[in-house]
Amino acid sequence: RTAAQKPEDVIKKYMEEMRVIPDEDCMICMERLSSPSGYDSPEGCGQALQPSTVGKFTKCGHTLHMLCMLAMYNNGNKDGSLQCPSCKTIYGEKTGTQPKGKMEIYSIPQSLPGHPDCSTIQIIYNIPPGIQGPEHPNPGQPYTCRGFPRFGFLPDNDKGRKVLELLKVAWMRRLIFTVGTSNTTGEPDTVVWNEIHHKTEMMSNVSGHGYPDPNYLDNVLAELAAQGVTEDCLKR
Ligand code: NAD
Ligand code: ZN
Ligand code: ZN
Repeated sequence: RTAAQKPEDVIKKYMEEMRVIPDEDCMICMERLSSPSGYDSPEGCGQALQPSTVGKFTKCGHTLHMLCMLAMYNNGNKDGSLQCPSCKTIYGEKTGTQPKGKMEIYSIPQSLPGHPDCSTIQIIYNIPPGIQGPEHPNPGQPYTCRGFPRFGFLPDNDKGRKVLELLKVAWMRRLIFTVGTSNTTGEPDTVVWNEIHHKTEMMSNVSGHGYPDPNYLDNVLAELAAQGVTEDCLKR
């Protein structure tokens, strides 16, 4: 885990200042890039970033007011990573706001519907209630944890084991759950699934989050990749 970096240094790490301003709109404030950003330079940042400064992302090449991007970064969990608002390319290591808890892995000898040739991996997530931190919607207020322990099931084949390894990375990066309002129950300040779908039923499919589903492993690999969790994370 990298030490906390100054927000303006994170912006400068992944965006380079443009000398010729393109004739385009800023994706964040929707003003022309040739007009200044509505955001002011932060205190103590010196002259480095001005409202007129336009930056270009190093990999995807999208352009924005650098102070607009700084404001977006400061609005998030300030983990040293950036995400291009145009194409969603992630720079650095995106982390989430999942509260403390446990992830455990078990083996079940039965097969899942649709995967008759292998046994089953069971993931058990347990998160106890606690107090929201500064990264959560209502810092200092409690959060509840409904329906824990929660289960996830995967086929114990090559692709399923790869998904499991990537889910472990996502867990370490706090991306599996978040604190917010449940779509299912409407309850606020509670722990909910984030953007990475799990199969929570093994032999039934009452919720629609069960098997068989021939597209599931590919879909969850795409959801992991959208959070910056890819096979590259396993090679390091
Ligand atoms: P949510 O309803 O806010 O939805 C967040 C994401 O989780 C969405 O992408 C949604 O598609 C997905 N999701 C919804 N239901 C799911 C399910 N059964 N299995 C797997 N993914 C599901 O998320 P939430 O508040 O975390 O609720 C998700 C599920 O958790 C509920 O449907 C319910 O099965 C369970 N839950 C149980 C209790 C309980 O007291 N037993 C309470 C709350 C939620
Ligand atoms: Zn802007
Ligand atoms: Zn981009």
